[in-house]
Amino acid sequence: MQMSAAFHGAKFCWMDGSVIETEKALVTAMNEMYLGIFEGIKAYVAENSLREGILNIFRWESHIERLWHSAAVCGITIPCTREQLLEATRETIKANGFTTDVYIQPRLWPEAGTGHLVGKGIHILVPVWTFETILGKGNPRFSEKTRTMVSSWRRISSDAMPAQAKCWANYANSALGAREAARLGYDAALFLDSRGFVSEGTNACVMSIRDGKLITPPVTASILESITRSSILKIVPEDLGIPVEVRDISRVELYASDEAFFCGTGWEITPITSIDDIPIGDEHPGPLTQRIAEYYGQIVTGNVEKRRNWLTPA
Ligand code: PMP
Repeated sequence: MQMSAAFHGAKFCWMDGSVIETEKALVTAMNEMYLGIFEGIKAYVAENSLREGILNIFRWESHIERLWHSAAVCGITIPCTREQLLEATRETIKANGFTTDVYIQPRLWPEAGTGHLVGKGIHILVPVWTFETILGKGNPRFSEKTRTMVSSWRRISSDAMPAQAKCWANYANSALGAREAARLGYDAALFLDSRGFVSEGTNACVMSIRDGKLITPPVTASILESITRSSILKIVPEDLGIPVEVRDISRVELYASDEAFFCGTGWEITPITSIDDIPIGDEHPGPLTQRIAEYYGQIVTGNVEKRRNWLTPA
């Protein structure tokens, strides 16, 4: 499989121990495609005067903890230390000369023909590429409509697939939901779990705001243990004084949200403007969503002193 040299500006990546040109990061087409794991991490340019110009990785340790957990669940032995992976990430950013916000996606997979042999022949790749944050002040993308539909596909159940791990195979579920939404003219899909309660979006968790309280489904609703979700569950009550509740949400209750949004490393905070064509609020980002997004944007750029321990210099 060959990645394009124009892979979001990622001329170089780190593979199996050294920085190489991305177009030379090749694996055989005979590789089993379903056994790999990965992580999705972002690094943001620091805005505060102390660290101007430096990229900070948001919640590196939590992401790495989850990567090691995904590996354990999927029988993968990670062929490097956590420190080596951080160094590999830093080297890759440096080699590419990135000075803007970047997305880091460590990927691990067993060599062709060894997939059934636990812990054998594991490849590791660290691609890094650029992205545009939607959290920036006044970014029009934040106010774009996200017309969401409840997918006819249920979220994979954790008794059939490791829903709490970032295993590539899980993402066929997300892709089916996203494709269905696109085919029917929606912007995003939302999954119910096997019990019929709200689970999550495609690669994002879901938050509802009702009567001034933020409500989100529990881990037992087959969600990925999202790091953005856990950050929000911490900062919203502690720093913004907004009460939170973690509990099952029914589809109809979600329709009655005053505000709702998706959250995730990639999605950051994306307001949901309607679900199944039922408007959420006035179909514009609501005041609490805006407040949370603004504050989250301040944290990731290093402007919130008490949350700087979530940032690791890249
Ligand atoms: N659910 C799934 C299935 C995901 O892939 C992601 C993105 N990692 C999320 C939720 C959000 O998780 P996080 O906040 O850790 O990015």
